Amino acid sequence: MNIFFRRTTFAAVLLIVANLNAIAQSGAKSVVEERNVRAAMQFLASDAMQGRGSGTLFERITAEYVGSQFMQFGLEPAGEPGWDGKPSYVMTVTIERAMFDANPTLKLGSTTLEHGKDMLVLRANNGSIKGGLQKLATGQTPQAGAAVFLTNSAGAGNLNQAAQPFLAAGASMVIVEETPQYRSGWANFGSRKPSFTVSAAKPAAVIVVSKEVAQTIAGMADGTSLELGGSVTMQKNYTWNAIGKLTGSDRKGASEVIVLSSHLDHIGVTENVQGEDKINNGADDDASGTVAVMEIARALAAGKRPKRTIYFVCFGSEERGGLGSRYFGDNLPFPQDKFVANLQFEMIGRPDAKVKPEELWLTGYERSNLGPELARRGAKLVQDPHPTQNFFQRSDNYGFAVRGIIAHTVSSFGLHTDYHRVTDEVKTIDFVHMTRSINSMIAPIRWLANSSFVPQWNPGKKP
Ligand SMILES: [Zn+2]
Repeated sequence: MNIFFRRTTFAAVLLIVANLNAIAQSGAKSVVEERNVRAAMQFLASDAMQGRGSGTLFERITAEYVGSQFMQFGLEPAGEPGWDGKPSYVMTVTIERAMFDANPTLKLGSTTLEHGKDMLVLRANNGSIKGGLQKLATGQTPQAGAAVFLTNSAGAGNLNQAAQPFLAAGASMVIVEETPQYRSGWANFGSRKPSFTVSAAKPAAVIVVSKEVAQTIAGMADGTSLELGGSVTMQKNYTWNAIGKLTGSDRKGASEVIVLSSHLDHIGVTENVQGEDKINNGADDDASGTVAVMEIARALAAGKRPKRTIYFVCFGSEERGGLGSRYFGDNLPFPQDKFVANLQFEMIGRPDAKVKPEELWLTGYERSNLGPELARRGAKLVQDPHPTQNFFQRSDNYGFAVRGIIAHTVSSFGLHTDYHRVTDEVKTIDFVHMTRSINSMIAPIRWLANSSFVPQWNPGKKP
């Protein structure tokens, strides 16, 4: 007898037990079936879907597929008019984008640096951004419009996040020295010309520079003029959300809304990655969350209609900065004060060794009373064990949270190294974990949808 067979048998027995429990809890019809989870994962994360690149035809196909599944499950359509003039299950979002025609440059006094060579533009929201050099450490306050050079970037982790407080305080750009993490992705990132969504926000950029350039800047006088720029071409792009709903059965409760969401896009194809495989399948990120939303939709649509209204929305272009969810938030199909809560599902395809088996974690668990209340109702939800990763800010839930809506992400991402790589494939998915995880959320979500519980931010914890 080999070890594989033993483990499989053991897992199968556990699954039967888990299913019996779930049947006892929620009625036979509502149990999530591994077969359905596998089927949807296999399609969404197949090579045929080319990594579901944000705003690509493949993202659109994904939205059409998820929408057609919503229709099969018996959700009501909540998207734009379809071929028959009636509401469909897809919401097309128009996005105005500016693309740099060539690699943008950073003028540093008399030196000119080029994106992809000595620097990387992590983000820029304008074709021309200027400022006077100011060297600051974390926690210091910049002058209005300053080009801040961060003097203590070592160990900063996510440089975009390290830069955020300075931009929020009025800096025009933040320049940070490379870390090994950024160096390893340098060629890949540098091969893409930056682009940005056109908005009324004030000009802001985050730039990573090589060690050598960082040394040069450290030796420059404060006030030296810096200018990031290049010519841009405007482009109209689109992204697609899949959207369906279950209207609440209770006259009063029906006006209150819970949004269960995921993102259906991923990062597409990376041509210059080493090896034959160029496709970022995005099995865990976020086909897994999308399948969770689908299977919860299937289960809730098949059971007794909940009192509150539930929207099931799989967003497009999350990987480009939450564009699909931003549109949804800007154009809510119901009054915002009736938006009870949002639960986003992200990367639940593999267990996280940092928590107990079968547990999921909730980003920002300590920020509101929603997580603890769901846990009290049987959800195997715990605090996010990776607080330094700032996951609360790193998914579609955040755009809702900053609007004041109680919004969190459910995940079991254990920081595996396949994240945003071509190796995030179906073969790495733990289907027993995934099926049980989805199953474990159904009864607590059904409770929330039938209750009059209105979650609240904990004191001082509203983002
Ligand atoms: Zn991602």
